[in-house]
Formats: sequence, C-alpha cells, structure tokens
Amino acid sequence: MTTYLDNAATTQPLPEVTEAVARAMRDNYGNPSSLHGLGAAASRALARAREEVAALVRAEPDEIIFTGSGTEANALGLLGAARSASAARGRHLVTSSIEHAAVHQSAHKLAAEGWQVQEVAPSKEGCISAEAVLAAVRPDTAIVAVMLANNEIGTLQPVAEIARALRGRKIHLHVDAVQFAGLVPVDVRTKGADSIAISAHKLHGPKGIGALWLRRGKTLTALYGGGGQERDLRSGTENLPACVGFGLAASLARADRAAHDRVAKLRDQLEALVFEGFPQLRPAVPLSAPRAPHISGILMPGLPAEPVLHALEARSVFASQGAACSSHAREPSRVMQALGVPASTGSLRLSLSRLTTTEDVTRAASALAASVSEIARAVSGTR
Ligand code: PLP
Repeated sequence: MTTYLDNAATTQPLPEVTEAVARAMRDNYGNPSSLHGLGAAASRALARAREEVAALVRAEPDEIIFTGSGTEANALGLLGAARSASAARGRHLVTSSIEHAAVHQSAHKLAAEGWQVQEVAPSKEGCISAEAVLAAVRPDTAIVAVMLANNEIGTLQPVAEIARALRGRKIHLHVDAVQFAGLVPVDVRTKGADSIAISAHKLHGPKGIGALWLRRGKTLTALYGGGGQERDLRSGTENLPACVGFGLAASLARADRAAHDRVAKLRDQLEALVFEGFPQLRPAVPLSAPRAPHISGILMPGLPAEPVLHALEARSVFASQGAACSSHAREPSRVMQALGVPASTGSLRLSLSRLTTTEDVTRAASALAASVSEIARAVSGTR
C-alpha cells in the first residue's frame, strides 16, 4: 500500500481521464485543421475541451490558449507580453523571489535581453504583499508577475489585491496559477490579471498540456511561428488527446465542490499529528498564513531532507524535498532562502490531492515519526 503525498509535483490521472485520452488517440486522430469529417470531429473535441478548461476558471473559451505545459504557459505569458510591450512603456519587470523556476527563468531571460528585473521578497508568512509590489513599481514598469499558490509552502498571494493596486497603470499582470490544482477557486474575472497559467497534470489530468488564459483584448507575441494554431499564439498541431484529458479533468475538478474543504481538513489533521507528535519539526510558514489546502511545508532543524525522504519511501510514503523541479539541481531552495531558513534545516513538502484519504494521512504521520527518529539517531551517532 503506497501513500502518495507528492501531488504538488504531479497528481495521479483519474481513470476516466486515462480512458478519454486513449480513446481520443485511437478514434479521434484527425487534425483539427483538416476540412474532412475526421478533422471536423477533432475540431469539435478540441472546442469542447477548451470550453471545459475555460469553465474551470470562469473564462470564455476564446481566452484559452493550449500550451505544452504550465512552464510554456508561463513563458508565453511573460515573454510574450514583454515582446509585445511597446518600447516607450519601459522594460522594467517586477516579480517575487518565490516564483517557480518557470517564471524565474523567464525573468532571467528578459534580464539577459536588457530588461531590469526587480524581485519582491515575501513576508515571514511567505506572502507577497500588494504594498511591497506597489513599492517596487516604477513609471517604466511594464509587467508584474506574481504566483497564486506557492509550490513549496502553499502560501496564497493576494493576486486580486495586487491587481487592484495596479489598476489604471497599463501594467500587464501575469499570474502563475499552476498550483491552484483545481482546489483554490480561480475566477479570472475577479483575479484582475491579464494572463494566468495553469497545467493539467496538477489536477489529475495528463502531463505535457497546459493553458494560458489571456484576457480578451490583450495581445502577446508568439514565442515562435508555424501553422498559426491557437490564434497564432502557439503554433503546432494541437495535442488533442491531452487537450481532451485536460478538459475532462477540469470538469471533474469543477464538479467536486467539496474538495477544497475536504483536502484542507486532511492537511490540518496531518499537520496536527506531525507537529503535536514531533515538537522538533516546524511548519515552514505559520499555519494561520493564507494557504492552498494541499501543501504542507515542514522544516526539520538539524536534519537533512534526503535521508528522511528515503526513509519515508522505505515505508511506502512518497513525498518531496521542497520543489521537485529544483531537487535535481541540489541547490538550496530559493523559497527557503527567501524565508531565511538556515541551510542546516532540511525541508519536506507533503502535498495532498482530491484522492488523499484519512488513512493516507495517518500512515504518513506515523511513517514520518519513525523516519525522523531513525535519521535523527543516525545523525547524532555520526557527530
Ligand atoms: N508553476 C508552478 C507553481 C509549478 O508548481 C509548476 C510545476 O511544478 C510549474 C509552474 C510548471 O508546470 P509544468 O510541470 O506543467 O510545466
């Protein structure tokens, strides 16, 4: 019996989604741009998937641009906005120091192209305040990029408040909402952003398919040219099976109205078991901070994360150390650095999903207790 608590890295596709993807591959293999019947069937399936994804974030279907990942949706939102920004507007970008690599690296790319990039640091709660963003904005600021839910500590950034503070300034606000995971309500109308990136594999959909919501009337410059698909913004024959899987996953996420509260309750149970049972473990941010329901960041002062993760795996519990994407790099996490966490403190991320059960939570908590004791003994033995 495995306990999968690495849902911020990726989620298990739902069986219905896997079947719909396979069916679309097998039966709906026409090119949506072809004029014959098979092409028309593919085009209808694509339109339906677009409607379903749009409905999840309360957008209009023509505002959804399918991309090859959440990373690409972020790159298109950020680089595409930068390249279409008028030179007269200026080349100053404000972002946060806790963004996912997808946004951080795009900002770096812009810096190499002559943009000035200013990073706003989070509060002790791990949040980026609207005041801090506004203080960083200058007359030549053309873009602001702030994420919705942080992928390592789960904190929610006050995107709607930031949008309100920026209103009337002709600044493109891009939001990385990949970690909303279908659990945090995203209504693009009330968020006030200009572009929002999402990804299917974080909400029980297939990997390799993301979407950018682009507010009507806003323009972007495509990252590359080709057949002009996706309103000329993302050329390349559409990955129809993945789009279909994304659409179904979005519909199922939308239908599970109780998911947010259910997952938050399970996370609270998990944190109560972990922090009450093990006073030496600390939450990465105060438990009262505004947080997405599915991510719990845990600090282990004096303990390295990797052996604890292996000890957990030996007990069939799968979790992550900070962000899965940066764990290959083995560099200290930028988020933990921004929070002032010392390098000697290991950090774990336990992340839940709509499929997580109470049994998962109790099993994970007892496995963590055993793993931490085992590694603490080994560490003190080597001192
Ligand atoms: N942004 C955030 C906040 C993420 O957590 C991730 C994935 O971990 C991404 C972007 C990248 O999404 P994808 O894996 O679909 O490229």
